[in-house]
Amino acid sequence: MSEKAIRQTSRDNREKARLAPYLEGYREKALAAKKDFNAFIEVINARALEKRVEQLSAAKPADSQLFGIPLAVKDNICWSGAPTTCASRLLEGYRPSYTATVLQRLEDAGAVVIGKTNLDEFAFGSSNETSAYGPVLNPHATRRVPGGSSGGSAVAVAVGAAPLALGSDTGGSVRQPAAFCGVYGLKPTYGRLSRHGLVAFASSMDQIGLFARHADDLRLALEVCAGPDAADATSAPPPATPPAVFNAGKVGVIKEFRRLVGLQPAVERALEGLLEALRKLGCEVVEVSLPTIVHSTAVYMLTAIAEASANLARFDGINYGVRRAEHPADVVSGPAADRLQRSYAASRGLGFGDEVKRRIMLGTFSLAEGYYDAYYLRAQKVRTLIRREFERAFADVELIVCPTTPTTAFRLGEKTADPLAMYLADMFTNPANLAGIPALSLPWGADDAGLPIGMQLLGPRFAEERILGAAEDLGRR
Ligand code: GLN
Repeated sequence: MSEKAIRQTSRDNREKARLAPYLEGYREKALAAKKDFNAFIEVINARALEKRVEQLSAAKPADSQLFGIPLAVKDNICWSGAPTTCASRLLEGYRPSYTATVLQRLEDAGAVVIGKTNLDEFAFGSSNETSAYGPVLNPHATRRVPGGSSGGSAVAVAVGAAPLALGSDTGGSVRQPAAFCGVYGLKPTYGRLSRHGLVAFASSMDQIGLFARHADDLRLALEVCAGPDAADATSAPPPATPPAVFNAGKVGVIKEFRRLVGLQPAVERALEGLLEALRKLGCEVVEVSLPTIVHSTAVYMLTAIAEASANLARFDGINYGVRRAEHPADVVSGPAADRLQRSYAASRGLGFGDEVKRRIMLGTFSLAEGYYDAYYLRAQKVRTLIRREFERAFADVELIVCPTTPTTAFRLGEKTADPLAMYLADMFTNPANLAGIPALSLPWGADDAGLPIGMQLLGPRFAEERILGAAEDLGRR
């Protein structure tokens, strides 16, 4: 579905006779995606959908760009219409009283939430295997992972259960699953979209991102949901003079990534194909050197676990979700303060999965006195170098390109025993989060087994329009 098609669909949907069956069709596809690939945690029920159709038809808004467009929403984004689980047992039964700003804006424009999608627990992961609701399967090969952590949203769009989906991208969680599932995935500039209502993972890197089948659908959705929000102090308007649009000028290919060993040959060939296509558009391809980028995954992980350990402290079993205070030892013995500690420990021990516990423990360790300087602080210094190297590079080139992932979708279970190998699946996506810059994964062919390959376009802050323009030109080739 192209932008025209979304605009067109949104116009056609104003006819009530069409809207109801159209959306019911998507609801059924979502139910099938839940059953076949475990892509959804919850699909909207028929009655709730009917109510939304009534509401939309009664409102008859003059200008609602997404009127009646089905939207799949990652289940770490708050929506008042259903529970938000973050795919964690800890949040079982938690129902937010409000809707995330970005989602509210999409709904105000007429979008219809079709379901909440599955993810890695608290968005910690690259394979969607850590969900308390079970793994999501890749629709191209069901023994393989769909990528993570927004795997459910990527699958929803890939199988046509929604033309549009929301995910979150802290270190690659929109782009990496987009690549593994063969769809477009955009991580906007840090601050471009409000984080209000997105359950916090690593606050200095978290961004809500968008999935679609075409670049121009992303543009439409971005137009609707971007912009400052009083509820998020880090949200920001674009600068007075926004970065220029795509002009088929100089494009940089990252020298340090090109020399890497271990890149799947099909991915390497796809990159060469992309460079060739850019040249055909009139671009000059040059090598850019970002010497510090090779440390991205180490810096990303230190930053991510430190911030996550602080953000997840709020899940104590008292304010949200499961609580294990009824444990006899907690209630009947010991001083009250001690019982409270044990209640926290028991609830968190029960509610969190292994990967979440691993990160909280490592993160807490890295922030402890004596270690803070050596780990978190050092990581932030290296992060500044990475950001500056990007700034310097963008003074010379319009865009930077690299693969989204070193390989195509790996097998379920292939990396679960080796967290380090799992973290390295994001080596090409982590840098954009560290630098706060926008990045898009676009589907770019397939490997010998027919698994989709994704290529990444990165731009300077607020250059989403430039990136989307380039993606559209490449799509037309
Ligand atoms: N895979 C990365 C991680 O596990 C990124 C996760 C994300 O972007 N939410 O931290």
